[in-house]
Amino acid sequence: MSEFSEQLGSGFSSIVPELDAWRFGGESFATCSECAMKPRTGQVLPEHRLVFKAEARCCTYHPDLPNFLAGRALRRGGIGADKIRARLEHLDTRYATGIVRPPELELEYQNLGKSSFGNAEELTCPYWISGTHNCTIYADRNAVCRTWHCKSVDGARGHSAWTALRWLLLELESELAKTVTTTDAPARDASVENWVEWYIACAERVDHLDIETLKSLRTPKLEFLIAEVAQAITLRNESLPEVVAPSVADWFVEPDGVALTAWSGYDLVDAPTWIFELLSRLDGTKTWRAAKFETEAEIGKTISDDLIHTLHRRGLLSAPEPQTGTGVQWKIHQAPGVENDHALQELAQRIIDAMHEDKNLEPPNTSS
Ligand code: SF4
Ligand code: SF4
Repeated sequence: MSEFSEQLGSGFSSIVPELDAWRFGGESFATCSECAMKPRTGQVLPEHRLVFKAEARCCTYHPDLPNFLAGRALRRGGIGADKIRARLEHLDTRYATGIVRPPELELEYQNLGKSSFGNAEELTCPYWISGTHNCTIYADRNAVCRTWHCKSVDGARGHSAWTALRWLLLELESELAKTVTTTDAPARDASVENWVEWYIACAERVDHLDIETLKSLRTPKLEFLIAEVAQAITLRNESLPEVVAPSVADWFVEPDGVALTAWSGYDLVDAPTWIFELLSRLDGTKTWRAAKFETEAEIGKTISDDLIHTLHRRGLLSAPEPQTGTGVQWKIHQAPGVENDHALQELAQRIIDAMHEDKNLEPPNTSS
């Protein structure tokens, strides 16, 4: 059993034995104990470098906890169990299938808008505490908390694999919660301790489900979600193809270079401004080595193979169709205070046009 499937507890890997083999390791760029999204002391970052408040982070979110995960956390005891008991004081959170976000919080999320994520301390999770290890129910956190990362070492492809896994785990959580929900759940206004007993009983029932019941939960929908994860992992693990094309979602011009991203403004990769010379030659037809030699001749510098491997690993280069060329939005953001570099912008715009028109690029004749 892998460390990952072990954390999920019995049940999950009996239904989806594939979980034991899939590699979903720690994301070393998402350094949660020293949150990678909070600015370091004295650090002044340009506006496009999104930051989170130390006392909010990505836990500006109220997870729904399926009954058996709530029960496991309660059974474990400690601060997590106390936090769940406190949450259960709120009648609108109690459901037989699990503990949900109260409706007024839903409204608050909507009112505060998207920018509240990572910053609105008033929206911080009820199971969160200050300090290095912030999650009091870490071992029993739900699929969203388990799979969300602000950064991925495998860039967009890593993010896609985590997202596919999230949908699978959410489905598993939901099916397991429904399977152990009997008709004798406490009334909404029952005591907190009645609800605590209910959720612990659900955890016990999940832990003792017989193998036939577990196997019966492998529905066609689950098969589909399993196939999606397997495919996302295959794409994530692809080695650098001979021919690649840019799969850049966005970039920002900065005083000393550019910051590129393949999927999210949370996950930027620093690169020199001449990177566009290289990207514009990676036209999806010639090999990356040929593009590299042409670029070296143009800029008069040696480009290390490691850079190409890094760009590929971070999802900024992918095999040509079907992964690139469609659905990729290129945007140019100039960092405040940086003089407009027309040559750079022009070259960047030509990449945008070529990708949108799905045609090969002319060799660039501008440099920055
Ligand atoms: S995943 Fe969340 S806590 Fe971890 S580094 Fe990213 S924002 Fe910070
Ligand atoms: S359950 Fe834990 S990881 Fe999830 S939002 Fe709350 S504190 Fe963060």
